[in-house]
Amino acid sequence: MRRTFTALVLAFSVVGCSISRQQEAEMGRDYAIQINQQLPIVQDAEVNRYINLLGDSIARLTSAPDHNWTFFIVDSPEVNAFAVPGGYVYVNRGLIARTDRMDELAGVLGHEIGHVVERHSVEQMEKAQRAELGIGLACVLTGACGSQAAGTLINVAGTAVFAKFSREAELEADDVGFDNVVRAGISPQGIATMFQKLLEERRTRPSAVEGWFATHPLEEDRLVRIQARIAQIPAAQLSRLARDSQNYQTFRRRLNSLPPSPAPRR
Ligand SMILES: [Zn+2]
Repeated sequence: MRRTFTALVLAFSVVGCSISRQQEAEMGRDYAIQINQQLPIVQDAEVNRYINLLGDSIARLTSAPDHNWTFFIVDSPEVNAFAVPGGYVYVNRGLIARTDRMDELAGVLGHEIGHVVERHSVEQMEKAQRAELGIGLACVLTGACGSQAAGTLINVAGTAVFAKFSREAELEADDVGFDNVVRAGISPQGIATMFQKLLEERRTRPSAVEGWFATHPLEEDRLVRIQARIAQIPAAQLSRLARDSQNYQTFRRRLNSLPPSPAPRR
């Protein structure tokens, strides 16, 4: 009886409300704690200070400046980046190693910040919860699965955070990411050159970038779209946007000089 009651409350709380800002913040913090326990995170204070300064300079000018924006470097040679709700952004060391200039990393951060600001993971979770509601409701009516229903919902939410985004979500993150970097006074040209590098590497060494392509469907048309937007910016304005900095080069050199990344856990 008690178990049925738990499932009932859960089912109604899912019907009744979407994920609030408060829940998003708490959930994101919990995910970040788990991720930081499971992935090797670069602990060097100087490189962490720099990536947080760069990330904050972009994030604080978005419509969600109050998130607990925190930027981490995952100590992996493979190319990848992802973000979890609440403002926790992760970039692989292997991606940073492939950048030549500040605006290329800024473009990746702007895109990931865009996913968070537009709540793409949160929306996927809400959708997944609605899909799971049928199961939850069946449990309530039959009393068959008891507290297992709660477990199912939590698993579904966890899966949704790391699921591949839809093409629409990627395009939106591209657009929002573009605006994010320009607003911060950084050139969007780095988004295009980074896309070019990733597409080129997919042709030559696909295994190193498969993680990125698994979660960020990227085709040539996304590059064309970004190039078209860059072409709309007046040349005088474009030339005033920052492409690189001494601090970025110092950051990149220091990151490259750290001991090699640990072997990936399989
Ligand atoms: Zn993306």
